[in-house]
Amino acid sequence: MIRTENLSRRFGENLAVDNLSIEVREGEIFGFLGPNGAGKTTTIRMLCALVMPSAGRAWINNYEVGPENSNNKIRESIGLLTEAPGLYEALNALENMLFYAQLYGLSYKEARQRSEETLRWLDLWRWRKSPVGTYSKGMKQKLAIGRALLHQPKVLFLDEPTASLDAEAAFAVREAILSLKEAGRTIFLSTHNMEEANRLCDRIAIFKQRLLQLDTPINLRRHFGLEERRIVVRLRQQLEGLPGKLSGLDFVKSAGWLELEEAPGTPALEIKLLEPEENNPQLVRALVEAGAEVQYLEERTPSLEEVYLAIIK
Ligand code: ATP
Repeated sequence: MIRTENLSRRFGENLAVDNLSIEVREGEIFGFLGPNGAGKTTTIRMLCALVMPSAGRAWINNYEVGPENSNNKIRESIGLLTEAPGLYEALNALENMLFYAQLYGLSYKEARQRSEETLRWLDLWRWRKSPVGTYSKGMKQKLAIGRALLHQPKVLFLDEPTASLDAEAAFAVREAILSLKEAGRTIFLSTHNMEEANRLCDRIAIFKQRLLQLDTPINLRRHFGLEERRIVVRLRQQLEGLPGKLSGLDFVKSAGWLELEEAPGTPALEIKLLEPEENNPQLVRALVEAGAEVQYLEERTPSLEEVYLAIIK
């Protein structure tokens, strides 16, 4: 649905986007993560045919960014939520939606129908006659997402959709994003929020001027920079000398006692293995043979935030 080949954009001396090559599949939520000034908004603006690339190429819904008739087809195919909602505050929600729907070329009848459907879906129908200036930030953000959907675009670009929202409003916006995915839309999501990316995205690109990593959240957490994998074992009782015994096994890289944040005072071991899929059964056998009573055993992957910070550094 989105494809770029060595896409680049320069502002004078400043190379904001350097040789970006990605493919976004139909129906996926594609996360675009990067620090302030990484070039995320510039990338989105190029993909929405709002600024032209300095070099490289991009296709959205099979239309290439560049030629004016193709740019118009791209604009018909996409919805964009910019960092600021940009709604008319003196107009009410329904008037805003009707206005934008007609700018998208819908007839008044279609505009009325789509506006009503969208406001009902976003749970804003009750407040359709209130001026948007009286809305909370979360309500404005939901309305802005609704506006981006009025012409039923195939691809939706969301530039930091939950930035500056409180937890409850951010939750509502994330739920709306997930239901859009269920409805088959392709979503390009730029965010700073790791938890959000981890929960919503099928794949994540970590980007700072150029593409640093691209994978599923779980693969990024599992594989990036991890030479060994951490297993945490919770025991019924502490057993003297157990870490030493385990460290002597050839498949164990290290073993030691661990203070569990979620259960202080509970005996727990942290064991680093090279291949948990291979070695976990042997590890359990060794623990039982050493007289340990295992309550649970789990693999701990680093958080996406830890991985992200390591990659960005
Ligand atoms: P943030 O998370 O802070 O919104 P971002 O990842 O969206 O950042 P961009 O807004 O794309 O980053 O900016 C990337 C770089 O390009 C920055 O150095 C910025 O100053 C520069 N830049 C962006 N737009 C322009 C412009 N119109 N003219 C000149 N420089 C620009």
